[in-house]
Amino acid sequence: AYVIMDTCKDEKSGECVSICPVDCIEEGTDQYYIDPDACIDCGACVAACPVSAIVDENDLPAEQEGQLEKAEAFFG
Ligand code: SF4
Repeated sequence: AYVIMDTCKDEKSGECVSICPVDCIEEGTDQYYIDPDACIDCGACVAACPVSAIVDENDLPAEQEGQLEKAEAFFG
């Protein structure tokens, strides 16, 4: 799955939402989140983000590793 890093917090442009073909990106109070169980790994959202906050979970920097768990918790 793709994951939105916490750099989203300062931007929250939301341009990723309408681009996702499976509609799995939702707005949280602090940032946007991708539903890791629904994401089909198409990568379309990556280029839509003006602050390059979206990466494949396998490419998450060490300091961002908690973001996948936050997304899982957000979608329950
Ligand atoms: Fe949606 Fe594709 Fe981004 Fe996954 S990688 S969140 S399916 S746009």
